[in-house]
Amino acid sequence: MKWFISQDTIKSSFQKRLEKECGENIRRCYQCGKCSAGCPISFKMEYLPNQVLRMVQLGMEEQVLSSNTIWLCASCQTCTVRCPCEIDIAEIMDYLKRYAYKKGVIPPKETKIPLFNKLFLKNIELFGRLYEIWLIAMFNFFSGEFFKDMTLAPKMFFKRKIGLLPRRAKNQKEIKEIFKRSAKLSRD
Ligand code: SF4
Ligand code: SF4
Repeated sequence: MKWFISQDTIKSSFQKRLEKECGENIRRCYQCGKCSAGCPISFKMEYLPNQVLRMVQLGMEEQVLSSNTIWLCASCQTCTVRCPCEIDIAEIMDYLKRYAYKKGVIPPKETKIPLFNKLFLKNIELFGRLYEIWLIAMFNFFSGEFFKDMTLAPKMFFKRKIGLLPRRAKNQKEIKEIFKRSAKLSRD
């Protein structure tokens, strides 16, 4: 892969903004590659996690935001715990996801990921814990793929992986309060 870097393409403000809002020092990354070596999703990513860090260092905002890497990241934290420089790469990926979403930059193939994330959070807000059938039904409905994975449902039910009724968390009041506060924070 060849990257053509010029004064016009480099935006140092991108790295500065990310460092300020994430509280991470990206300049510490020296490209050892340990993060990418441990990433379970790297085989599907357009750019590896260490490449994303380098691109941020070079201010390649457009390329980073339009890549599928930030959307495929599962926030598993493997990269974060492996980094010898103690850079929280998972947090950087989360930040980039939020930033890309705000800017309306979502790669065409990954448009359903923000929908899934939104529904997942709504699920937690409503029930306090995962209610799989609700999530599957809502996702299929809103994504327009009405019968997606329907044949798997009975198998999962008989293996007791999913239940018909929701199991609500005990401390729902507190959970709703968390959602209320975080909605207020993101508005401010
Ligand atoms: S947090 Fe994301 S980038 Fe890091 S190892 Fe997990 S999937 Fe890969
Ligand atoms: S593990 Fe840390 S230092 Fe190594 S490439 Fe990844 S981010 Fe950079």
